[in-house]
Amino acid sequence: AAKAGGRGRYRFFSGDLLQAATDRRLLEDDLRDALARGELDLLYQPIVNCRTDCVTGVEALLRWTHPVRGPISPALFIPIAEEANLVQQIGEWVIRRACEDAARWPGALRVAVNVSPTQFTNEALPKIVISALANSGLPAGRLELELTEGVFLSESPDTDRMFGMLKDIGVRLALDDFGTGYSSLGYLKTAPFDKIKIDQSFVRGVTVPGSRNGAIIAAIVALAEALDMETTAEGIEAFDQLDLIRGLRVSHVQGWIYSKAVGRDVIMQKLETGDWSINPAGPARQRSE
Ligand code: C2E
Ligand code: MG
Ligand code: MG
Ligand code: MG
Repeated sequence: AAKAGGRGRYRFFSGDLLQAATDRRLLEDDLRDALARGELDLLYQPIVNCRTDCVTGVEALLRWTHPVRGPISPALFIPIAEEANLVQQIGEWVIRRACEDAARWPGALRVAVNVSPTQFTNEALPKIVISALANSGLPAGRLELELTEGVFLSESPDTDRMFGMLKDIGVRLALDDFGTGYSSLGYLKTAPFDKIKIDQSFVRGVTVPGSRNGAIIAAIVALAEALDMETTAEGIEAFDQLDLIRGLRVSHVQGWIYSKAVGRDVIMQKLETGDWSINPAGPARQRSE
């Protein structure tokens, strides 16, 4: 058994892992040039107030079309960008581009941008945000930064200071993928979030009334309401899910049931044709029915 295990291990290291490491290095090299080559693009997915059915904003989602390999998921290349020290440069491009696009759309839609933990700990972030807002003319209140629980891993005075600086600028803050990370409720006491995004993994299990995931979502919503935060349920794909989620008093939803992420021109067109009703302020008005 030891021999077989040894051999298996040998094969593993010389094969898959080496291949993976080489692959990663090649991808890293390509990612270094991706921005300059125009291979990166931002798509936008609508976020809908499920009490009014109005679009209140969009989330910017990064796409990389590799010249040979085709589309590569941000779930794969963002971690590489983090390790290769490319995430600051790419992240800055994302913030600037999202602000420029959002400033052109009619109807005062909000735009949400994902900010990785490494970006969040970078001193330069507030300056980049201020400059992106000033250059684009987008009001600060229409930019939302989505952070994950990862920003609390290195809990330090700098974390609080960064939160303070971003709130002073006037941007909104959302806690992304809630419930999947190193969840501690402690940081909700002090971190100034405007919104909690309930991870898709909870939403996926909500297929029948009375599910365990439903109970967890209801508890998250109660917590968010008590702390005066909005909630967005991520990854809604089916109508029965949407109905159940609505019943749990979630304030906003996002998912393929409404739309996948689309280009800025499609967003522009949806807004101009009135295809989407928009309600940027998104008051929690109950539908009259
Ligand atoms: P996220 O911020 O939690 O984004 C939501 C993900 O769920 C997106 O995946 C979106 O396309 C996907 N999604 C939306 N609706 C549905 C649905 O109904 N069903 C299913 N199955 N999936 C749905 P995507 O675009 O592949 O992004 C993955 C992650 O990559 C994001 O998760 C975010 O953490 C990260 N990411 C994306 N863009 C950026 C960026 O510009 N900067 C940084 N730092 N991270 C980014
Ligand atoms: Mg997000
Ligand atoms: Mg998320
Ligand atoms: Mg996610």
